[in-house]
Amino acid sequence: MVTDSVSSAVRAFQAPKGTYDLLPPDSAVFLAVREAIAAPARRAGYGYVETPGFENVELFSRGVGESTDIVTKEMFTLTTKGGSELALRPEGTASVLRAALQANLHKTGNLPVKLWYSGSYYRYERPQAGRYRHFSQVGAEAIGAEDPLLDAELIILAVDAYTDLGLRNFRLLLNSLGDRECRPVYRAALQDFLRGLDLDEETRARIEINPLRVLDDKRDSVQKQLADAPLIRDHLCEACKAYHEEVRALLTEAGVAFEDDPRLVRGLDYYTRTTFEFVHDGLGSQSAVGGGGRYDGLSEMIGGPALPSVGWALGVDRTVLALRSEGVELALPAVTDVYAVPLGDEARRALFGTVTALRRAGVAADFAFGGKGMKNAMKSANRSGARFALVAGERDLAEGVVQLKDLGSGEQTAVPLAEVVASVKARLV
Ligand code: ATP
Ligand code: MG
Repeated sequence: MVTDSVSSAVRAFQAPKGTYDLLPPDSAVFLAVREAIAAPARRAGYGYVETPGFENVELFSRGVGESTDIVTKEMFTLTTKGGSELALRPEGTASVLRAALQANLHKTGNLPVKLWYSGSYYRYERPQAGRYRHFSQVGAEAIGAEDPLLDAELIILAVDAYTDLGLRNFRLLLNSLGDRECRPVYRAALQDFLRGLDLDEETRARIEINPLRVLDDKRDSVQKQLADAPLIRDHLCEACKAYHEEVRALLTEAGVAFEDDPRLVRGLDYYTRTTFEFVHDGLGSQSAVGGGGRYDGLSEMIGGPALPSVGWALGVDRTVLALRSEGVELALPAVTDVYAVPLGDEARRALFGTVTALRRAGVAADFAFGGKGMKNAMKSANRSGARFALVAGERDLAEGVVQLKDLGSGEQTAVPLAEVVASVKARLV
């Protein structure tokens, strides 16, 4: 009876639609991916930044853009009891730039201000494989410098992160979106072209607000009509052309392969010049594992000074899926190296002390809690994945030893209690 009502209560509480829980052992892979993505950026002088999980909704409507899907359809918004309009963060760049401006990092430190972050993001999307309402990104931003080397640096850091993880089948798509000088001319030419097409009302409205986004429309009916659309690369001004050529040359020199994709957009007026996306072919239609670009106008859009900047955000969930699709197994540290199996109360206290000493010495150690019998405790030891079991009964303690059992070979050695830590450490290297 009790069991029934408990399990139906548990069933009533499911993770919300479009979300999933990270649980051992898979959660360890997730953590390792986060760390591996951040590692190259940390080595390159990017400092850790953490911002709140929610912001004033206006930061995103201005900082991401009124005409983007993120703002028009995907934001989780809420009104506080005090009447403030907040949104769960749908992306990281606007918050990171807001935080840097608020703390005057651009005035007090070297430029560029280089920051990396890792966290949860929220978008009200139609859930499907690789597309969730709660997901995880690691990002890096370099704020306050216009230098093609910086664009190249960030792209190389992302490539190194994927490569270090062992990912192979990812591709880098690269484009330039021009700047304040050449983009308006292109924008007008594109609008002229798009106005002549057979499009639905929403898309026609988009032509007037954010025509570049139309190029990003995933529907076949739209893509078919875009074959002859004017391309930004034919409209770049000399300065943008030179900048882009320099980024391309730097990437080539670093051995980074890329594909020029003249239709790749990030679609906002303040995204400028370099834009890029990483795609993986093992993920079906949710193929983007990460993306980024230069956003020279964003600071001014959110009330700051002119601060040309560049950054990326890589999706952790999709990177994990990409690794899985390639069958890559990460080399993860052992959860438990040593598992203690006490026989009797005196041994429980003695081995508990030994486990504490092992942990303090940096050895991953666990214990057969709950007064399990020998057989059950050994089963737990094997299930834990530990290399060694530490077994002791009254007779062992009387002799001042514990039995160190190699769970792989079955070999057992008596080790003096005082030497257990040193002995285990010597065997683990
Ligand atoms: P898509 O075109 O797939 O919607 P996006 O352009 O909206 O991607 P960005 O805003 O550039 O994505 O975010 C960077 C990365 O974050 C993406 O490349 C992807 O890996 C990940 N990401 C974005 N939205 C989601 C989501 N809803 N679920 C899981 N990962 C996501
Ligand atoms: Mg999206």
